Amino acid sequence: MDPIRIAVVGVGKIARDQHLPAIAGNAAFSLAATVSPHDAGVDGVSHHKSLDELIASGPAVDAVALCTPPQVRYDLAVQALDKGMHVFLEKPPGATLSECVALSSRAEKVGATLFAAWHSRFAAGVAPARAWLAERRIESVSIVWREDVRVWHPGQAWIWEPGGLGVFDPGINALSILTHILPRPVFLKTATLEIPANRAAPIAAQIDFRDTAGAPIHMDLDWRQTGPQSWDIVVETDAGMLKLSNGGAVLTLPTGAEHNEDMEYPGLYARFANLIRGGRSDVDIAPLRLVADAFLRGNRQAVDAFHD
Ligand code: NAP
Repeated sequence: MDPIRIAVVGVGKIARDQHLPAIAGNAAFSLAATVSPHDAGVDGVSHHKSLDELIASGPAVDAVALCTPPQVRYDLAVQALDKGMHVFLEKPPGATLSECVALSSRAEKVGATLFAAWHSRFAAGVAPARAWLAERRIESVSIVWREDVRVWHPGQAWIWEPGGLGVFDPGINALSILTHILPRPVFLKTATLEIPANRAAPIAAQIDFRDTAGAPIHMDLDWRQTGPQSWDIVVETDAGMLKLSNGGAVLTLPTGAEHNEDMEYPGLYARFANLIRGGRSDVDIAPLRLVADAFLRGNRQAVDAFHD
């Protein structure tokens, strides 16, 4: 079978850290082109300043991986789908719920694959955590996602703008795991969003969810963490405690801890190839829906201005 010719659109931090190595390591794909307004691309690979330019004068491609900020993703995805290309959407899949729904219908209409990728669901501990919890009664869940925005998002202005999600940009990774491992649906009860006086998006949030059986779920998100960082989910059950730490990489059960190799992006590209070969799409918007509910129902508190 010929490799899927793919273009990476938006050559920024995640494209360089994860997408380009994962594509290089998967024989189902060949990197046909890159697109980015300011970046120079990859040596020896056709590079374009815009998707328009790639479509007009670049090599033929079968698929695109959209690694841009979410605010510009819808228009790029429509353009690609209308040319019959398969589309990989980095998380979050869009800047609004309704544009994600519109994209799903468009992909179905043109017969192309649309993949809303949630990389944290491919962290090593997540699949075994989901299997273990399927058999248990959930009593409570605590999520602590505290990191230093200056370390992880230096100079990224888009992340503070409307549609950039603020602290929910990392927080949505926790929600992608939560909505995947819990046996029952989850919904939001209350939220408090702390918004710096000079920014449009929250720097911290406290959120209470519950599942449909009544189990309380608390989420503590903060971008002002210095020192040790936390990306932890603790689930209390009738059979003891489950803990996912390091963003889902390490699973601790009452019987002990398991730490497996990081396979998030290789796992995402294996899934994308399978979806394309099988003529299917995978667009789960449950994590983005919970974020939208926090913005819809949350109390907003003004806090001190934030400076990079
Ligand atoms: P980033 O470093 O700011 O990179 C985004 C890139 O998109 C920029 O380099 C920019 O290119 C490009 N871009 C902007 N508008 C474009 C357009 N219209 N057409 C083509 N390219 C365009 O951001 P990032 O950290 O990689 O994050 C991108 C997405 O990945 C976000 O949704 C984020 O949530 C997700 N993500 C990030 C991480 C992470 O660790 N950073 C992890 C997982 C997922 P130029 O520089 O050439 O202008």
